[in-house]
Amino acid sequence: MPEMSAKRKEMVDRQLVARGIRDPEVLRAMAEVPRDAFVPRHLRHMAYTDSPLPIGEEQTISQPYIVALMTEAMEVSGDDRVLEIGTGSGYAAAVLSRIAAEVYTVERHGSLARSARQKFEELGYDNVHVRHGDGTMGWAEYAPYDAIVVTAGGPQVPEPLLEQLATGGCLVIPVGPSQYSQELVRIRRTSEADYHRENLGAVRFVPLVGSEGW
Ligand code: SAH
Repeated sequence: MPEMSAKRKEMVDRQLVARGIRDPEVLRAMAEVPRDAFVPRHLRHMAYTDSPLPIGEEQTISQPYIVALMTEAMEVSGDDRVLEIGTGSGYAAAVLSRIAAEVYTVERHGSLARSARQKFEELGYDNVHVRHGDGTMGWAEYAPYDAIVVTAGGPQVPEPLLEQLATGGCLVIPVGPSQYSQELVRIRRTSEADYHRENLGAVRFVPLVGSEGW
């Protein structure tokens, strides 16, 4: 729809570029992926607003700026295999799929996993693989991953995700002592045994629920 693509261009300029998102691949992917396809039908007119939106199961599709910030922080490149925990609407995985070679994404709500899978099919995004399960355990079968992102906030960094990260790769995750406020953390695996951790700022995500979550 031409009207949606104009709104998307405006979103990229006003919400992303204006706030300092620079990675051309991230900007290109976000100008391409139809966020309107990932929000509930009755909220489609709000698809390009500067905010998260409800997607059912008490979950949300993240604010576009947050998706851009996290995707940029992952430092993904074209031949990477990446893992996302918290598929939700599927939007962030769709953005990643336009940059990386393969995207693996895990969602604990069966209904969300199903509807995301259907959207990827409709859009022809056939390099996204969805699993219904507890993402705090990662997805060992396809590890190691060149980058991992968690789009829900947990009390600590799940150990399996550290193990499934490739050397040189980045894990981006909101971590915090309360269920409703977190620090966005980037952990780079610098060698088999070493990890370097930095804080990227305060964020607010829905809780990461699971065996290594809340
Ligand atoms: N990336 C999503 C954001 C969804 S909100 C998007 O672009 O729309 C976070 C999602 O994480 C929710 O759907 C929630 O159900 C899911 N989640 C929470 N804990 C999880 C876990 N342990 N494993 C997998 N998914 C989880």
